Amino acid sequence: MTPTITPQLAEAAARVRQAAETIKQAQIDFLADLIRLKTYTGQEGPAVERTLAEMRACGFADVRTDSAGNALGAVGSGRFSLLYDAHLDENEIADEADWPYPPLQPTVANGKLYGLGASDCKGGVASIVYGARLAAALNLTAACTITVKGATLEEDAEGFAMRHLIERDGFPRPDAVLLAEATDLTLRRGHRGRCEVKVRMRGKAAHASTPELGDNAILKMRPVLDALEAMTASLPADPVLGRGTQVVTMIASPHTPNSVPGWCEATIDRRLTPGETPESVVGQISAAVAGLGAEVSLPVQPVTSWTGLDLSGPAFFPGWLLPEDHPLLAAGKLTCAALWGQAPRVDVWKFSTNGTYSAGAAGIPTLGFGPMEEKYVHTPEDQVDLAKLLKGAMFYALFPLAYSLIHGES
Ligand SMILES: [Zn+2]
Repeated sequence: MTPTITPQLAEAAARVRQAAETIKQAQIDFLADLIRLKTYTGQEGPAVERTLAEMRACGFADVRTDSAGNALGAVGSGRFSLLYDAHLDENEIADEADWPYPPLQPTVANGKLYGLGASDCKGGVASIVYGARLAAALNLTAACTITVKGATLEEDAEGFAMRHLIERDGFPRPDAVLLAEATDLTLRRGHRGRCEVKVRMRGKAAHASTPELGDNAILKMRPVLDALEAMTASLPADPVLGRGTQVVTMIASPHTPNSVPGWCEATIDRRLTPGETPESVVGQISAAVAGLGAEVSLPVQPVTSWTGLDLSGPAFFPGWLLPEDHPLLAAGKLTCAALWGQAPRVDVWKFSTNGTYSAGAAGIPTLGFGPMEEKYVHTPEDQVDLAKLLKGAMFYALFPLAYSLIHGES
């Protein structure tokens, strides 16, 4: 159920729609500048600098980077703290010849802006920066302090940089996180999690001409693989997100074709439902292969920020789901209803996001809304519709007032 649109909110929505025209070109120019910068994961520095400059020009307070190199700035000074998050790193170009327009030359055609990262997630960064700017200019920050974050390291290690900001740099835990990833102007309230697991068997190496002196670790892996496959039917399931999955994706052994292998290691890709933890996953797999002599572990993912900081940590990304009746979801629906006359569709993402930390690990209420379309993410057709881009800013401008009203303040 969508709460009522009060006269105050309706009047504010009208002012947002009208004022949006005044920021339209500046928002496009900012996004075009971001697209010109090639910022693969761990190389976001130039896009971070460009975002800080835009935040300063927009009059944000407390414009800075944290030690992991996220771009941060704030507007408003109310008692509710909102974190607007969109990432500046982008997926790597596979083959430039497949792109209809050069990926690093932003091109406007048919009302759309084409270029690398437009849909994932630089269009989201332009939405939250200009949304916050509009909220401040129209005095609509209401009872909220809004921190805008141009995030780093999302593509390879989603959630790592946000974990660092909150747990190691001491950024106060926000009341809510909004993720401006692709949703095509609808709302997203969760996604499955993922992790990597290693299952290792030890044998005894020997010369291949005398196999009876060794103990073949590859052959010992056979019953382990069967047990791993057999357990997939009973993985945890969620009524909205579906059942978790588990698949063996790689097998490794020593590169010595004339030796009996002394070890064999299987890599597993596991998709997770909310509530699963590193301990529960390792525990389930260990139980499934009990008695076979396998060692089960979670690998550490090596991650270094563009500022040179080591953020390496377990390759574990929890799933999450915001309850259907949560006030944060109500605030998202109310914002859309006030701006455009109807509450949008609510769904879950197929892909993983920084919500894996904010909601999945830290339990902070998290909601997704972005103007970009999922079908263009990680494709040579990478683009954002410019009319939708402006609506992205409108949403982030009005959201703080809707959030405050839902919480009994304005
Ligand atoms: Zn993304």
